[in-house]
Amino acid sequence: MRRKQTSPIWHPFTQHALQESMTKIVGGKGAHLYTADDRRIIDAISSWWVVTHGHCHPHIVSAIQEQAEKLNQIIFAGHTHEPAEEVAALLLKLAPRGLEYVFFSDSGSTSVEVALKMALGYWNNIGEPRTRVVAMQHSYHGDTVGTMSVGARGVFNAAYEPLLFDVTTIPFPASGHEQAAIDALESACRNEAPAAFIVEPLILGAGGMLMYPNWVLKEMRRICELSDVLFIADEIMTGWGRTGTLFACEQADISPDIVCYSKGLTGGSLPLAVTLCRGDIFDAHYSKDRARTFFHSSSYTANPVACAAARANLELWQQDARKHMALVAAMQERLIAPFRSDARFLNVRRTGTITALDLKAGDAGYLAGIGPKLQTFFEGRNLLLRPLGNTIYLMPPYCVTEADLKEIYEGIRDAADALA
Ligand SMILES: *Cc1c(COP(=O)(O)O)cnc(C)c1O
Repeated sequence: MRRKQTSPIWHPFTQHALQESMTKIVGGKGAHLYTADDRRIIDAISSWWVVTHGHCHPHIVSAIQEQAEKLNQIIFAGHTHEPAEEVAALLLKLAPRGLEYVFFSDSGSTSVEVALKMALGYWNNIGEPRTRVVAMQHSYHGDTVGTMSVGARGVFNAAYEPLLFDVTTIPFPASGHEQAAIDALESACRNEAPAAFIVEPLILGAGGMLMYPNWVLKEMRRICELSDVLFIADEIMTGWGRTGTLFACEQADISPDIVCYSKGLTGGSLPLAVTLCRGDIFDAHYSKDRARTFFHSSSYTANPVACAAARANLELWQQDARKHMALVAAMQERLIAPFRSDARFLNVRRTGTITALDLKAGDAGYLAGIGPKLQTFFEGRNLLLRPLGNTIYLMPPYCVTEADLKEIYEGIRDAADALA
């Protein structure tokens, strides 16, 4: 096709032939974004799930300013700094018990790669090499080759399929079919001696905001524990209050062996990620033998400015962030309720602060024709929503007001009137 594009920028998850111009954003405050042409947009998806306390939260902004003047970068091999030390200590205080070590990186995908390497390194170093990973149908763990391998196969990664490593996939525990998923995990753990099971707790995000109950998560954790399979929780999306508790694992009262946090780790202000693990995984790499070193780093591992932002975020969680989160969850329940009896929508659902609903519109799935139409409609209404196919979801920052939320739901209702 002949290019019409004028900008040299190649945008993520963007088909440029179908979307020639990008909305130019010049500012953000709380739940609102401001465009170059003077529009105010409500950010209903926290700018791809990262902004938890609102754009440009003053506490985080001043932490960044202060740190940027002190120390902005330092090689993290052989060096350490206070923001990283404090973030690690605070994280271990807030995370499920049993996690003892914190490995820093700079994106969610990388933190998952690190989790997988920790798991395989553990088995290798204790002299029982295992490489098979069990994953859940419809999962998303990132866009790097390793994380694509443990995620759902489909249009997103078809071109790279021959490079992806083989995993065992258990079914998604859909309502009424939970036992089948549990049985599949049990059988994989019994028969294949996998290194690890990786899962998004309570909600599969990019897979379509698919929700499953906490007792299933608890049962899956129990199976892994019994069969000595490492349990990796990918809380990159579900962490930081999204599911109604600080971390989703709390709702099943479980401790993973390895857990990944990113997205809201800095309140959505700077890229940063962590992989937390149990002491015995660290111990398997702890040796006078340099060949047993955990061979992983990113240039910007534990960047001090990003760590200062994360520390400020953790402080907000020790202050009143939980209160704001609970308020949003309650407002979400009130406002989504009427949609449960609206025949134009299916699977109207909520977990914590996240709501989702599927518009009945012929085809489903990510490439459903309705997706781009919905998005254009919402943009016309100055709402930042990015449906996953025919699935519309809200994941607002916790400073969102009831008036903002009402405007978003009104937009969704009007979209159904116009397009369903
Ligand atoms: C976003 C996401 C990732 C990848 O994080 P990036 O920072 O985009 O690399 C991994 N897992 C889950 C569950 C996510 O939602």
